[in-house]
Amino acid sequence: MNFELSDDQNMAVENWRRFLEREIKPITDQHRDKPFPKDVLKGLLRATCEYGVGNGWVPEEGGGLGLDFVTSGLLYEELARVSADLAGAAFVNEGAAVKVFNAGSPELRERYLEATLAGELIGCSAISEPNAGSHVRGMRTKAVREGDTYRLNGEKLWISNSSAADYTVAVALTGEQEFTMFLVDRDEHGFETREVEKLGLNSWSMGQVIFNDVVVPAKNILGKVGGGLRETMKGFERSRCFISLVALGLGRASLDASIDYAQQRQAFGKPIGAHQLVQQLIAEMAIELEASRLMVFRALSLLDLGAGSNVEAAMAKAFTTEAVQRITSKAIQVHGAFGVTSEFPVERHFRSARMLTIPDGTTQINNLIIGRKLLGLDAFA
Ligand SMILES: Cc1cc2nc3c(=O)[nH]c(=O)nc-3n(C[C@H](O)[C@H](O)[C@H](O)COP(=O)(O)OP(=O)(O)OC[C@H]3O[C@@H](n4cnc5c(N)ncnc54)[C@H](O)[C@@H]3O)c2cc1C
Repeated sequence: MNFELSDDQNMAVENWRRFLEREIKPITDQHRDKPFPKDVLKGLLRATCEYGVGNGWVPEEGGGLGLDFVTSGLLYEELARVSADLAGAAFVNEGAAVKVFNAGSPELRERYLEATLAGELIGCSAISEPNAGSHVRGMRTKAVREGDTYRLNGEKLWISNSSAADYTVAVALTGEQEFTMFLVDRDEHGFETREVEKLGLNSWSMGQVIFNDVVVPAKNILGKVGGGLRETMKGFERSRCFISLVALGLGRASLDASIDYAQQRQAFGKPIGAHQLVQQLIAEMAIELEASRLMVFRALSLLDLGAGSNVEAAMAKAFTTEAVQRITSKAIQVHGAFGVTSEFPVERHFRSARMLTIPDGTTQINNLIIGRKLLGLDAFA
């Protein structure tokens, strides 16, 4: 196994890191408590796609940069260290583009793909509903055929990028347990959105997507009628790795902040970092972060090899998102009372980290995926 990065990867990460500090951080720092305004988000996405973030996972033939998963993962990790919220928004946008690339007609590709990859259009993926999260098949949103169109009615919930989205890639029931994926345009077909207030990741929009008699042409189906869940499942290995990369970014930001603080803050006549128990906190954070990194990049490298990484991605997601709870909590401990105030970033990282054990398979669901593989017994049924 080779754990060294290539010169190209090192250079890409270095340039990207400098760019993030110089151009992106000053903007994301101004928008911490509310969703990025749409024009600000588009400006940020236009900037990140120059470096292959937001368009890296789509092959060149589709207008993306076609980066390998490891390189792309390195870039997303750096972005998440600076702004987990922007990393989330970019990834969800890229995820919508990947679905259009994989399953869209030439007409849909022409209209949506390039513009999404360039940050000119924003997409989201709407699957979850108030009564159907882990149990995706429990969804109730219906699409009823009427000639060459479908009429959509229903409510999606917890949809990332929803407030800013120009279009949504939504899965709806077109028959008994028949799930079909549609591309629905906000202006042309008219879905509504409502933002939900949440614990963390507050500049990354999330909320309801409401279909109230929304009429969509049949040509806006992505893939086949009845193929909507299969298309959705295809993206899970990647998205589980991605959420793990956000956990890595938040973990690194928390560790960096804690090291700085422990070197500066004095207690009992010396920097707190010189006290053994504070060093233990720092060491434990670093160990969990390192283990997290190895797991995520192992899963990503399997994706690069074209091998399945279903279990490895589930392990990475389950481990890193739980580990980052402990890492960000220890970062607060290192900062003492300052750690629980908005004066220091670790309070925000802690709240953001808490969001991550839920999307793209909760910890429990990922454990069931791992258990199913190890035991050959399906606990979902
Ligand atoms: C930050 C964030 C971003 C999101 N983005 C999107 C998005 O862009 N698009 C989208 O469609 N959805 C999105 N979601 C929704 C997400 O996919 C769901 O929240 C998730 O699937 C869990 O569903 P739920 O919230 O309904 O919880 P439930 O499924 O109701 O689960 C509640 C609890 O029960 C446990 N549980 C459920 N079933 C089992 C079981 N069989 N065995 C053991 N335990 C079980 C769960 O692990 C959890 O602890 C997002 C959520 C978050 C937090």
